[in-house]
Amino acid sequence: MSIHLDIYSPIQQIHDELFAAKGIEVFIKRDDMIHPLISGNKWRKLKYILQKARDEAKTQLVTFGGAYSNHLLATAAVAAKFGFNSTGFVRGEEVQNDTLFMCRLHGMQIIFTDRDSYRDKPALFTQYFGGDINAFFIDEGGASTEAAKGCSELIGELTEPYQHIFCACGTGTTAAGLINGIVQHHLNTRFNAISVFKNGGFIKVEIDKYLSSPVDYDLHLHYHFCGYAKTTPDLIGFIKQFVGKTGILIEPVYTAKMMYAIYDLAAKDHFQPGSRILAIHTGGLLGLLGMREKF
Ligand SMILES: *Cc1c(COP(=O)(O)O)cnc(C)c1O
Repeated sequence: MSIHLDIYSPIQQIHDELFAAKGIEVFIKRDDMIHPLISGNKWRKLKYILQKARDEAKTQLVTFGGAYSNHLLATAAVAAKFGFNSTGFVRGEEVQNDTLFMCRLHGMQIIFTDRDSYRDKPALFTQYFGGDINAFFIDEGGASTEAAKGCSELIGELTEPYQHIFCACGTGTTAAGLINGIVQHHLNTRFNAISVFKNGGFIKVEIDKYLSSPVDYDLHLHYHFCGYAKTTPDLIGFIKQFVGKTGILIEPVYTAKMMYAIYDLAAKDHFQPGSRILAIHTGGLLGLLGMREKF
């Protein structure tokens, strides 16, 4: 069985009085529509990792994540779809939630790991799978050159020019891949990375690690809303308004922070009139269910 999904990721315009008043056009690439669970950047990141595992005749995917990790869930779903077994090491003490329920439903074996042991992932892998020639190590978040390569392919799907492309960053691998794609296709497009971490300056190092050549881009550090997976009433209010007005679901950890940044920068005249701006919807919508009580 070859490692392939037919990609459905249309680009839709987001209409808003603010954008009209500023003379700009904003679009969103719906990578969230690629698959309900292997969604957004997670399919693009896993594609060549899976191909490598298949080429090496591995049958057991082993990876790592927090209890709400979209990467863990995508790995479980992709393993089930393409005939791999899967194991997920989960940081912290034993919990139950929607993400882990869905991981298990897709056949993933979950191993809860205390925070100290979790830090050394290669050691965990060796401890549990050292003698298992079928096991294949996938780093937390799928961070790898294979992942960046998969993400760079998104740029080849664009048929119109954009002055700006926006994407939210966790490990920064997706951002690096998109930047590489922009360079490969010789596009005159400014890349904008949104850090979802407080003090997210370190993301620049992570992005630069996977760049095929040094490139200038904007890393926006002020849209973290108190830090990773944190929210504020302002962000929650924005999500309600955005979803209600557009019918496009976004979630608080990544995509809402990116969309908020675009609205805020538009209001502050960051964009030249006439600009076309593309947001990448990186998916992760199951994360909404874990944040019900915040709404
Ligand atoms: C994982 C994830 C990201 C971050 O991708 P990185 O390649 O780790 O930067 C962004 N958005 C969503 C919805 C995600 O699940």
